[in-house]
Formats: sequence, structure tokens, C-alpha cells
Amino acid sequence: MTIQKSLPLNANGVPLSAAEAQVLKNGLPSTLSDIDPSRLTITLASTLKTLPEPESLVFGEVTTDHMLYMDFSPERGWSQPQIMPYGPLNLDPASSCFQYCPNVFEGLKAYLALDGTPRLFRPQLNMDRMVISAERVALPPFNADALLTLIKRFVALEARWIPRVRGCSLYIRPTLIGTRASLGVTASTHAALYVVLSPTGPYIRNSEGKGISLLAMSDQVRAWPGGTGGYKLGLNYAPGFVAQRKAAALGYQQLLWLLGETVSEAGAMNVFAVFKRPDGELDVVTPPLDGTILPGVTRASVLSLLSYRPHITALPQLPTDVRINVSERVLTMSELFAASTADTLQEFFCVGTAAVVIPARRIGWQRSSADSSDVEDIRLPVVGGQGSLAQALWERLVDIQEGRVEWEGWGVTCTASD
Ligand SMILES: *Cc1c(COP(=O)(O)O)cnc(C)c1O
Repeated sequence: MTIQKSLPLNANGVPLSAAEAQVLKNGLPSTLSDIDPSRLTITLASTLKTLPEPESLVFGEVTTDHMLYMDFSPERGWSQPQIMPYGPLNLDPASSCFQYCPNVFEGLKAYLALDGTPRLFRPQLNMDRMVISAERVALPPFNADALLTLIKRFVALEARWIPRVRGCSLYIRPTLIGTRASLGVTASTHAALYVVLSPTGPYIRNSEGKGISLLAMSDQVRAWPGGTGGYKLGLNYAPGFVAQRKAAALGYQQLLWLLGETVSEAGAMNVFAVFKRPDGELDVVTPPLDGTILPGVTRASVLSLLSYRPHITALPQLPTDVRINVSERVLTMSELFAASTADTLQEFFCVGTAAVVIPARRIGWQRSSADSSDVEDIRLPVVGGQGSLAQALWERLVDIQEGRVEWEGWGVTCTASD
């Protein structure tokens, strides 16, 4: 097993570089006020929106009645946090977020437990990642625990918006933007941090036998060494929209990002390949966190579940005789093609908060950029379904998220009195 153990690990086993650990430790200078949940003010909307039908939900289209808002100035630090009616922000047109994109976001979900309590899934990891992303674009730090306390209260207040259907949830979008009102090409001294909520259905209702199609593209890249791919920054996404359109025009649902021939991520999801050894043991491989890969919470959770022994405790859906070997290592398109030809490539799946786990059914590779007839396909023999790793991981993660299973403190409940 080559899972990185040398780096400092945070409480949940996600590797942090020494520099990242320092960012989290440093915090704000003591002369400035940090986010303070005890100063929260709540102004309720005078009229409430009608709840949408869970079946009609399209990701990100509907927002709830309120938003959580605070801002930062270099003189005083973080302002009093406010929950207020959802509405437009009032920003100077020269604000640096519109010009040079110091924009950070997070994505996590609130689920409804059987007893009606809202639950979050490993939210501390999202908060820490947000502080680390902020530092990458020179935005101010904040107390990650304080933001989490506020988000729990906010979610408790909006709990009526969490759909009561398995696989449905309330998507939480914390956002941090630079608001310095100047065209000077320099770090933003001012910032706004806000959180909006959006009810959401499952990415694909039942992945069994379906799975998505991926197009691997070599001529455009998402991330590169020394770049920003390992951080959740708004600026990483717009450059992928044209390539996404091109993939759709060729009949593929998502992009498989490469760097040269090396597999990186699929859309905004981390990827795993499953190879079968001659003796029947499975090798599960995901690319390492080398700075070009977003350190996903789902990725870390999948690695943790797959590494657990005995596996039947972590993944009771799997056949008892399955033997799983997990590694974080470089994965190339040639390797995938060779394994597909040799019938040893069994599964390929994508993981992230939005989809949880979603299997791929085919992967196209356009070796040269121009000619669309030049796409070669890998077809995956196992696409979700009973006995597959993708299905077992999806079931288990959703059970933990929705509180049917307690697992290593991953589930965190939200109450108004936190
Ligand atoms: C958010 C994101 C992921 C998934 O991360 P999770 O924490 O599991 O939701 C993967 N890749 C990219 C590029 C992302 O933006």
C-alpha cells in the first residue's frame, strides 16, 4: 500500500503539507476580530418561498430563503455575522473578485437523519480546505470552527428545505471573494464571506447499469504542477467550459482531465480505477495529491473505507472473499487501454460531494486534438450494480451521510443551539 503516511495528517486522516498545516495554525493577527458566532444577528425573510418538489430539483437552480453573510476589512477584521433574507450583494464594479478572481468556494451537503435532524458529513475538512484555498489567493484567514458553528445554525434554521428522499440533500455553498475596490493588480485587502443553500436531488437517480461516459482530452489541461488545481478556486473552472461543450458535442457527459497522458480528474470529481489481478485480488488506484488534484473529502473517505480491515466491516455490501489493495499512484491512459485489452480493468468510478460515487461505462480518448473521428473507446465491464465497488461505496457513504450508520465520527448533527 502506498498511501502517503509521511505527511502530517489532520484529525480525519487527510494529508496536509507542512505549509498547509502552518496556514491553518497561523490564523488572524490578534489585533483583528475573527469570526465570532456569539455576535450572530438573524433577520428573517418576511415571506417564505414555496418548497419545490424533490423530483423537479436541478442542481443549483433553487436557493433557500436566507443567506449567511460577513465581511472583512483590514482595520477591524471580520464583521458581525448575519443571517438575512437571500438577495443580491452590493459590490463596487472595480471589486477585485470581478477583475482578478480571488474567489474561493466550498461544497458540502446537509442530509436529513431518520429522526429529522439535519446532519453534515465531515464538514471540518471543508472548512480547513477553505482556509487553505483562501491563502493561495491571498485572501484573509478565518477561524474554521467558527464558520462551521454558523453553518450548523444556518442549516438548522433552513431545515425545512432538506428533501425527505433518500439521496436528496441540501447543498451548502460557502463563498469567499476579494472585494477591494481598486483596479490595482494586487492582493485584495477586503473580502466578503457568504453561504447560500440549494436543495438538490441525486446526481443520477440509480446508477445501476447506467454510469457516465467520459472523454479524455489531451490538448487542454485543468491543472499543472505549481498551479492551482489542488485548491477550490473559482478560477479553475471557467477555462474548462469550452472543453466540456466539446465533450458534449461528441456525445460524452464529462471530461476526463489529463496532464500529458496522466489521468487527473473527471469534471469536478476525483477518479478511481479498479484492476483485477490474476489471483482475483483487486487493485484500486487513484492519482496522488501532487498539487494537480483537488483533495476531495469523498476521495479521502473512499480511501479510508477501502483501506479498512476487515473490509466487510466498512463495506458490508461486498462479497466476503474480495481482497482489496489500495494505492495512490500515477495512472496513465496507456495503462487503462492495456488493461482494458487484457480484460483486467474492471471498474472506473468518479467521486465527489455532488455525485457521491458514480461509475463510468465508457472512456473515450482523443489522441490528437483536431479530428473527432479519432476517438477510441474503453468500455468498462462492471458499471455499478450489485457486488461492484462503486455501488458498495455509494450505499455505505449515503448510509453514513443520512445517519443510518455511525462511522468514525464522520456525521455531525446541526442544532439551532450549537
Ligand atoms: C470539489 C471537487 C472535487 C470533489 O471534492 P469533494 O470534497 O469530494 O466534494 C473533486 N475535484 C474538483 C476539481 C473539485 O472541485
